Amino acid sequence: MNVEVLQRSIRGRVFSDRQTLENYSVDSSLYQIRPSLVVVPKTIKDIIKTLLFATKNKLSVTPRGGGTGLVGSALNSGIIIDLRNLDRIRIFQNHVEVGAGVHKGSLDQILEKHGKFLGPNPSVGPYCTIGGMIGTNASGSRSLKYGSTIDNLLEVTIITASGKMLKLPSRTRLAQSVVKLARQVDRQKYPQVSKNSCGYRLDAVSNISETQKIIAASEGTLGIVVSAKLRIYDLPKKRILVILGYESIKKAALDCQKIVKLRPSALEFVDHNTMKNIAARFPYEIKCLLYVEFDANIGRNVSLLSNTIAGQILYKFSDKKSIAKWWTARNSALYFSLKNLLSSKTLPHIIEDATVPLHSLADLLLLAEKTARRHGVRLVMYGHAGNGNIHIRLASKNKCKKTINTIAKEFFTEVIAMKGTITGEHGDGIARTKFVRMQYGHRTYELFYKLKNEFDPHNLLNPQKIVLARHSRDRQQLRL
Ligand SMILES: Cc1cc2nc3c(=O)[nH]c(=O)nc-3n(C[C@H](O)[C@H](O)[C@H](O)COP(=O)(O)OP(=O)(O)OC[C@H]3O[C@@H](n4cnc5c(N)ncnc54)[C@H](O)[C@@H]3O)c2cc1C
Repeated sequence: MNVEVLQRSIRGRVFSDRQTLENYSVDSSLYQIRPSLVVVPKTIKDIIKTLLFATKNKLSVTPRGGGTGLVGSALNSGIIIDLRNLDRIRIFQNHVEVGAGVHKGSLDQILEKHGKFLGPNPSVGPYCTIGGMIGTNASGSRSLKYGSTIDNLLEVTIITASGKMLKLPSRTRLAQSVVKLARQVDRQKYPQVSKNSCGYRLDAVSNISETQKIIAASEGTLGIVVSAKLRIYDLPKKRILVILGYESIKKAALDCQKIVKLRPSALEFVDHNTMKNIAARFPYEIKCLLYVEFDANIGRNVSLLSNTIAGQILYKFSDKKSIAKWWTARNSALYFSLKNLLSSKTLPHIIEDATVPLHSLADLLLLAEKTARRHGVRLVMYGHAGNGNIHIRLASKNKCKKTINTIAKEFFTEVIAMKGTITGEHGDGIARTKFVRMQYGHRTYELFYKLKNEFDPHNLLNPQKIVLARHSRDRQQLRL
């Protein structure tokens, strides 16, 4: 492989030094894979030339955004292509055209000046990119009202493995084959949930005008996103945040079913361990909290809320500063949980993103507690309760791979039986790709192979994510 040849042919940078390869060997998961090269393209032509170089040298190509992914989806052994220079933003009345490398934080700042906002809001805040959000089908607290990335993706432009630019939706051969495969899907095999980042979202495509949605949650395995058109919303005039306290997680979960009927903009859960890190006083008997945010019909909704719920209203905030402070505490739950559990004892995030129909939320929370007790591991839980999506962090001194896999298999079997998904927003990555077949069954998984083959017949793009090569062995590499 002659790296100089690639460097001379592109305007961007090519890195092969030890330090850069180390930096790109990790993301926000516990996995590590050292790439062979890192390319930071300046132009679309650079991306195309990199793909041709990779094909010639039999290297894989994996796109990377902010590296905030939690399941190792941006890690691979070939070329990592960092899209930070694709940073154009154009704002229109109801949508934004945005480059894949734009950081969510930069977009938020510009949108705010125009009185607008983007619906999906991952708790990682400003650090993730649009390409990464599309790659994982990211969502966040406000996805309850405004949808996940897939629901807001109006158009996407990708570079395919063969180096061709493709806009979706369009009447192209590839778009037509997506529709053909989508029509063969048994939609009953898909989880019956409000958000899902597992496998390929063939269920979201019913005709050619929806073919852009297949790129959401595809983790860079079908094409490299260079730009997208995303729906935007008017900033609400006012928001109110109500903090509810509960004596048991079951009561909190049951209340969620009543609260969603009031159309809150967010409905979040934090457990007792996470509460300990919030700088506020809570009555002794309170074991968990719900955050309920409204951004419309506020007076009416708050009074309906107090008549509807079994929990106690502990705090109400309508000033921007207090609301932001309480959201910061909620959004730091992952950091708190790692601090509480001591990161040296943290188990890989495999069962951390399950999502179930809302009527099964209590069962999901109780299942997590039962699993932790049975395997003698410690547990922290928080998440997007209104969507039935709970993040579960486990810690144990016993980091044996067999135990981790046993926990995951037992847990996922029950989640799937509840018609849930093994991942609501973080994706499959290294952590969960081997469970995708279990989620969908043999027939749908075969359609996934066909889809991958249509877009990327030589398995160049982010191999071993979502679908495993037919005779692959488990290659997970933990950084523990
Ligand atoms: C503290 C913390 C909190 C988080 N909270 C949330 C949350 O509330 N909700 C949520 O959904 N997620 C959350 N996440 C996960 C993460 O932030 C999201 O998955 C995010 O969308 C990843 O964006 P990124 O730019 O960092 O992507 P990366 O991690 O760099 O990549 C993620 C995936 O997208 C692919 N990808 C990246 N760019 C492109 C491109 N241009 N074309 C094609 N594929 C591409 C990569 O190959 C990879 O498969 C959290 C993470 C952390 C660390």
